Amino acid sequence: MTAPLLQSNDVSRQFTVGSGLFSKKQTLMAVNGVSLNVEKGDVLALVGESGCGKSTLALMLLGLLPASSGTILLNGQPVSSIPRLELARRVQPIFQDPYSSLNPRKTIGDIISLPLRVHNIGAPEERQGMLEAIMDLVGLPKRYVTNYPNQLSGGQRQRVAIARALIMRPELVICDEPTSALDVSVQSQILNLLMDLREELGLTYVLISHNLAVVEHIATRVAVMYLGRIVEERETDALFTTAEHPYTHALLASVLTPEPRLGIPDSQLGIEFPNPIDPPSGCTFHPRCPHATDACGIRAPRQIPREDGAFVECHIYDDDEAVTLKSVAA
Ligand code: SF4
Repeated sequence: MTAPLLQSNDVSRQFTVGSGLFSKKQTLMAVNGVSLNVEKGDVLALVGESGCGKSTLALMLLGLLPASSGTILLNGQPVSSIPRLELARRVQPIFQDPYSSLNPRKTIGDIISLPLRVHNIGAPEERQGMLEAIMDLVGLPKRYVTNYPNQLSGGQRQRVAIARALIMRPELVICDEPTSALDVSVQSQILNLLMDLREELGLTYVLISHNLAVVEHIATRVAVMYLGRIVEERETDALFTTAEHPYTHALLASVLTPEPRLGIPDSQLGIEFPNPIDPPSGCTFHPRCPHATDACGIRAPRQIPREDGAFVECHIYDDDEAVTLKSVAA
C-alpha cells in the first residue's frame, strides 16, 4: 500500500502570547492534535471560522512553521527533514490576495519564472519555453509577459499567481481562499481553472475556504475545524447530505450568507467564537452546541470512525459515551 501524498499525525502547534512587561504569558493552542490523510488527486477542503487554526495548519503543511508536536509526512517523508528549497518545489501556495502576493516592480514574465531561476532550472531559452507553456495553460496571453501586476485585472493577477505556483509542477498546492478577493463574476472562472489544472497536471489541493459553495463545487473531501481540532471529516457529497457534527450543521446553515468571508453569523449559534487562549472544558463546542449535555462540558469527545475513512468527534455518536451521558444526565 502506498503512503498518502500528505499525512499529518497528531499535529499540534501552540504559541505563547502576552509579551508585555506585566502581562502574564499564556498558551494558545492554535492546532490541537490534527490527523489527516490527503491522497494524490484529492481536493481536501479545510473549513471553519476565523481563528479555528486552518491557516496555522496550512503554514505547517507548507513547512513555514514547525509543529510543536506530531509529524507531517509528504509521500512518507517527514516535512521537517526535507531541505527548504526542495520542499518549496514540491509544495506551493496560492494566496487569497493576488495583488499583495505579486511584486509590483517585476514584470509578469519575471514573476512567473522566478522559481525556475531560484532553483536554477533550465537554460534561458528553456525557461522561456516553460514560461510560455504555463501561461498558455492558465489562460494568460503571451503579450502580458512584459506587463506589470497593476496593469492586470484581479482575475488575471490570480492566474499569474497560479502560473508561478505551478511552473515547478508541485506535488501539492495549498490554496488559501483563492477566490475570496475576486469579483464574483471571475470567481467561478478561477475555480474552474483550478479544477481543469488538477485534471491536466494530476495536482492535489488543500483548499482553505470560508465559502461552502466553493467547497461543494471543487472539494473531494472536507475537514471541519473548530478551535484547533478537526471535528468531522468526510467525502464532500456525504458532508453536504448527511453531516453529523452539530458544528457542521451550523456551518451548512450559513451557506446562504451573502458575504462569503463572514463565516458563521453569530445568530446561528447564539454566542461568539470562544477565546482560544481560554477554551471551554470538555467538548470545546459545548457552550454553543444546541445538543450539549452536562457531560459535554466535562469530557472531550473521541474520534468516532465512519465509512470511507470519515470520522466525527461528538459524544452523540459514541455508543459507549451515550450510556454514560444518560447516567450523567439522570
Ligand atoms: Fe455538542 Fe456534546 Fe457533541 Fe460537543 S460532544 S458537539 S457539545 S453534543
